[in-house]
Amino acid sequence: MTALNRAGWRPEMNAAGGADDNVTFTGNRALMLEEPLIFEIGSTDTTGVDFDEPAPAADLGSLMRSAPIGLPGLSESETVRHYTRLSRQNYAIDLGLFPLGSCTMKHNPRLNEKVARMPGFADVHPLQPQETVQGALAVINELAVWLIKLTGMYGVAMSPKAGAHGELCGILCIKAAIEARGEDRRVLLVPESAHGTNPATAAFAGFTVEDIPATPEGRVDLAALKARLGPDVAGVMITNPNTCGLFERDMKAISDAVHAAGGYVYCDGANFNAIVGRVRPGDLGIDAMHINLHKTFSTPHGGGGPGSGPVVLSEALSPYGPIPYSARYADGSFKLVEEESAGEEHPDTFGRMTAFHGQMGMFTRALTYILSHGADGLKQVAEDAVLNANYVLRSLEDVLDAPFAGSGPCMHEALFSDKGLAEGFSTLDIAKGLIDEGYHPMTVYFPLVVHGAMLVEPTETESKAVLDQFIGALRSIAMRAKNGDPALKSAPHFAPRARLDETLAARRPMLAWEG
Ligand SMILES: *Cc1c(COP(=O)(O)O)cnc(C)c1O
Repeated sequence: MTALNRAGWRPEMNAAGGADDNVTFTGNRALMLEEPLIFEIGSTDTTGVDFDEPAPAADLGSLMRSAPIGLPGLSESETVRHYTRLSRQNYAIDLGLFPLGSCTMKHNPRLNEKVARMPGFADVHPLQPQETVQGALAVINELAVWLIKLTGMYGVAMSPKAGAHGELCGILCIKAAIEARGEDRRVLLVPESAHGTNPATAAFAGFTVEDIPATPEGRVDLAALKARLGPDVAGVMITNPNTCGLFERDMKAISDAVHAAGGYVYCDGANFNAIVGRVRPGDLGIDAMHINLHKTFSTPHGGGGPGSGPVVLSEALSPYGPIPYSARYADGSFKLVEEESAGEEHPDTFGRMTAFHGQMGMFTRALTYILSHGADGLKQVAEDAVLNANYVLRSLEDVLDAPFAGSGPCMHEALFSDKGLAEGFSTLDIAKGLIDEGYHPMTVYFPLVVHGAMLVEPTETESKAVLDQFIGALRSIAMRAKNGDPALKSAPHFAPRARLDETLAARRPMLAWEG
């Protein structure tokens, strides 16, 4: 099982002073520390904490564990080091360019973090009396107003906790609106290029998903869509800009046709970064759209903190939005409707998405980001993000096939395919080669409509120097894949672990040394 360990190092190998200069006694290479699995270094009779012997248990009968659980223990300092060492093997936006297409991995300004950590924000508790959290509610409401104005929509549900959760919220609004009309529409139309969460959301909400075909230039086929509309269609779920990095120019015509046929338009707003400040989705006839605060508004993703996916709604869907809910009132004011007043002010709500108001820390960060950029700064975000993506696209289209480059400029991301690579070489080889160059790979094999897709989203937060280095690295790997360099087939060579069988690693993880 040498593959488990960098350079095939084994504890017994070099004890007598190695003959091989490349092998150290510890397996470490200076500050690149080799870290075994906790099951390999820990032992079941070690613990970092001394507990009293447990008192004989009361009569718990069958609930008692019959054998020891077998979890390895380490001393306190060894535990801290184990996880710190592992954390140093992670890639992060604070280490370098993170070109994942569709994910908008942009720099998270430290100002956001500073504000979110102010005790008045960080220490509020959702069960505090309302009169003591008026400041926090004002932050939520002010962010809600910005989101409504930036999107040209009518109301917003702030509570969904991620993009996919926001999709569910929007689709449940559509479902409630259709039920309120006493109609039975069960089909949602979704383009083939959609993010997997779109069809998953539609199915989870009880709809049948049908594909909308794409035109050869990578956009929704309007004629085919119109032909499918009818009394069984609840609506469409469309991503704009789409996952091929293209703006859906026919969006208004699509919305008009869907509305004329009695349906609603859901827009996946994950790519809002490319149009924020430039295009208001409300003007395109959209009824519901989630906004990933962790993408467009620079709050951390995933491991860096929870996401947040507020959903903006049109006037038609607004009455069905979940509580708590923010909407525009006739007198021009905005108001956050809470559970207590929902009965009078928001009687048709479909219910709740979350226990409380959502991800408060993300709201604070996103509002900080918005206020520090201002309306003009947000517009520049979109312009620079598009400029950077086009710079990447045009700098690489001579070495990598760019299937839609002929359709004109791209939006926020550059899309390439595996066409033209040497026999036996694939997108995966290019992704693994990028790891050796010190980059997290781009999004691969998505969108599904492009063979061996590579989707690069540089975002506006990268400088030209950073982009030039990345382009140089990707160009060099693309040339190796075109020339059939056999070493690329086994990349990465310099990462803590070599190329894994990814399916096996996910399905049958080896958590203990089997050597
Ligand atoms: C990221 C993304 C989603 C899902 O958002 P999460 O916040 O990850 O749940 C949906 N659609 C597209 C196009 C995305 O890029």
